[in-house]
Amino acid sequence: MSETYEQLLQLQRNYFYSGETKDVHFRIQQLKKLKNAIKANEKKLSDALRKDLNKSDFESYLTELGVLYNEITEAVKHVKAWAKPRKVKMPITHVGSDSYIYPEPYGVSLIISPWNFPVNLTIAPIIGAIAAGCCAIVKPSELTPNTSGILAHLLKQTFEDRYIAVVEGDVATSKALLALNFDHIFFTGSVTVGKVVMEAAAKHLTPITLELGGKSPTIVHKDAKLDVAAKRIAWGKFTNAGQTCVAPDYLLIHKSIKERFLEKLMYQIKDQFGDDVTQNSDYPRVVNGSHFDRLLSYMKDGTIVFGGRSIRERLFIAPTILENVTWNSAVMEEEIFGPILPVIEYETEQEVIDMVRKRPNSLALYLFAENKKMEQVVLKHLSFGGGCINDVIYHVGTTRLPFGGVGSSGIGAYHGKYSFDAFSHEKGVMHQSTKIDIPFRYHKTKGGLKVLKRIMK
Ligand code: NAD
Repeated sequence: MSETYEQLLQLQRNYFYSGETKDVHFRIQQLKKLKNAIKANEKKLSDALRKDLNKSDFESYLTELGVLYNEITEAVKHVKAWAKPRKVKMPITHVGSDSYIYPEPYGVSLIISPWNFPVNLTIAPIIGAIAAGCCAIVKPSELTPNTSGILAHLLKQTFEDRYIAVVEGDVATSKALLALNFDHIFFTGSVTVGKVVMEAAAKHLTPITLELGGKSPTIVHKDAKLDVAAKRIAWGKFTNAGQTCVAPDYLLIHKSIKERFLEKLMYQIKDQFGDDVTQNSDYPRVVNGSHFDRLLSYMKDGTIVFGGRSIRERLFIAPTILENVTWNSAVMEEEIFGPILPVIEYETEQEVIDMVRKRPNSLALYLFAENKKMEQVVLKHLSFGGGCINDVIYHVGTTRLPFGGVGSSGIGAYHGKYSFDAFSHEKGVMHQSTKIDIPFRYHKTKGGLKVLKRIMK
C-alpha cells in the first residue's frame, strides 16, 4: 500500500512541478469548484453528519458548512493580493538593491483531520492549500466513516488525484503516509498524536502545522454579566456535545458569584437543549463507545450537581456540571472533549494565574469580566492559542483572526490569510544593482571598518 502512496505522492509532485497549481487564476477556479461541489452535496454532507454524530442541520451549517463558504469567499476575493510578491524597503547597507518577499507554495502537503468537525476540519486546510498553490493528499478520520465517504467522493469528483487526493483509512494509513517525504504536513488532532506527527516530520525536516487540543479554561469573574455569560457558556460548552477542541473545558469562577451563576447556567442549558435532553433529537451523540466510557469515568471525579444522565445504546451523555473536583483527577488532567463541565472556585486574580499556569498552554481561554484590570491581568500573564473576552468559541468563526495553538496546543495557525500563509514559504530575494558597487563590505577597503561602525550600530 505504501508503494501506492509513494506513487501518489510522486504523481502530485510531478504535477506541482508543472507549475499549473501556482497560476492564480487556476487557484481561484479550483476554489470556486470546491464551493460548488460542497453546495451540490450539502444535503449529503448534513445527512452524513447526522449519521456520524447526530448533528442537526442547523449545527452542521453553523459550525461546518457556513464557515467553509466564508473561508472560500475570502480566499477567492484576496488570493491574488496574497500571492503577489511584496516589495521590502531596504536599509542603507543595501543601498541600490530592490528586495521582495515571494510567497511560494510548499509543494505537496499531507492533511490529516479529526472526527469532531469532520467536514470543516478536512476542507478548511484544503482551502489554504489551494489558495497557496499546493497539491494535497488528505486523510479524513476513520471515526466518522459516513462523512469521510462523502468527502472522498466529493473531492474525487471535483479534483484529479494528481492535485487533491483523498486516502481513507485508520491509524495504519496515517502512519504509512507520515513515513513519506512530504513538503508540508498539516495535522489536526490530539496532543498525543501531534507528537507522533512531529517525530515523523523530523525525519525529513518537513515543515508542519499542528492544530492540537488541550484544556481551555473559562474564567467568570465577580463583575461578569452573569446572564449573558451563562447563555454563551452553555451554548459553547454543549454544542457538538462538548466535542470541540476550543470548548470551555473547565470553569474557574469567583466564589462570590458561584451559586448565582450556576443557577443561571442550569437555566440556560435547559432553555437551549430542553428540560429533558434525552428527548432532544438534535443533541449530538458521543462519537463512539470508547469515548463514551472515557467520559463516563470522569463523572466519578466530582459531585454531579446537574445532568449526569447517560444512555449507552444511543451514545448519549447529558450536559453535566461537576463540582468538588481536584487537579490530580483524570477529569482535570485530561482534555474532557465531551459534555462535562467541572467547576472550580477562586478568590483572587493571582489564584487564577497560578492555576492556569500549572497546566500546559491551552488552545483557547475565555474570560467573562466587565473590569479592564482583570482583562489586562489575564492577557498579560497567560499564554494561550486564542480566545475571547465575554464570549466562547466565536473567535474561531471568523477569517480575520489566526486560529492555532501555542506550545503544547499547537504550532502555526490558519483561517483567512493565515491559511494561505500556513501552506506558503516566504522566499526573500534581493535584486542587486550591477550599476553601482559600494566598496565598504569588501576586505581591505581603506577605512572600511570605520564606515561599518558608523552604519551598522
Ligand atoms: P486523533 O489525534 O486521535 O486523530 C486525528 C487523526 O490522526 C485521525 O485522522 C487519525 O486517523 C490519525 N491518527 C490517530 N492516531 C494516530 C497515530 N498513532 N499515528 C498517526 N495518525 C494517527 O484526534 P481525534 O480523536 O480525531 O480528535 C480529537 C482531538 O483533536 C482533540 O484532542 C481535539 O482537541 C483535537 N482537535 C483540535 C482541533 C484544532 O483545530 N486545534 C480541532 C479539532 C480537534
